[in-house]
Amino acid sequence: MTSQSIIDIQQVSYRYEKDIVLENINLSIPNGSFLAIVGPNGSGKSTLLKLILGLLKPQKGEIFLFGQELNKFKDWQMVGYVSQKANSFNTGFPATVFEVVSSGLTKKLGMFRFFKKEHKQKVLEALEAVGMKKFSSRNIGELSGGQQQRVFIARALVSEPKLLILDEPTVGVDAENVNAFYQMLADLNKSRGITLLLVTHDIGTVSDKVTHVACLNKHLHFHGETKEFEHLNAEGMSEFYGHGVHMLAHHHEHGGVLN
Ligand code: ADP
Repeated sequence: MTSQSIIDIQQVSYRYEKDIVLENINLSIPNGSFLAIVGPNGSGKSTLLKLILGLLKPQKGEIFLFGQELNKFKDWQMVGYVSQKANSFNTGFPATVFEVVSSGLTKKLGMFRFFKKEHKQKVLEALEAVGMKKFSSRNIGELSGGQQQRVFIARALVSEPKLLILDEPTVGVDAENVNAFYQMLADLNKSRGITLLLVTHDIGTVSDKVTHVACLNKHLHFHGETKEFEHLNAEGMSEFYGHGVHMLAHHHEHGGVLN
């Protein structure tokens, strides 16, 4: 393991019942990187995130977070997580944007009654980082899917994580806003130095914004810097996925989505 790795996955395999979903995954995620794990539906992306978050245990292999074995790791406040379900909030949910983001602090503070001026400042800063400060007093239910997703990211940011993990963050973001959404994440990565990890089946826009790409389909078929990935041609990716190869090769022309 290199000391620079925020996440280090070593020879990890996972199966549900008898189906092997992940096989011999080796993946080291350097500090300060912005990595997209891409793969078609059912390729094991969510399973890999659950393993990283300690929600599932691999039958084989080991995972290290910030240099510590996962089963000994306790500094979970360093890790922010925005689940896929975050953006399926009931639109009638009676909370303001400010309140939603504040709830990200309560796991650190314990209770709202200790909420101080400096905490209010942190909430506003987190909202500013995702371009949502001017919406702070709006009801969360009045916002678009993409705006809500930004608010959930602010909620994760408010406890100042060093690593932020996002599961399919552009589900629910309008197609014309996806580019700006990824740009916002790229800015967070650059300006705050937060290591970002997201999984997506949508390879189109994301490859323009991230520093690293990993292609997953039970095995890890490619992992490296984005510029290396862009040089791969369809032939080089032939083992990845028949349909996916086509989409990868043409994603710029067609805005490809791996299904
Ligand atoms: P992705 O996130 O890439 O869509 P998943 O990790 O959700 O992929 O799923 C990978 C495979 O594991 C799929 O074939 C899925 O049906 C299967 N799977 C996921 N969760 C479970 C579960 N709880 N029990 C059994 N099989 C599961």
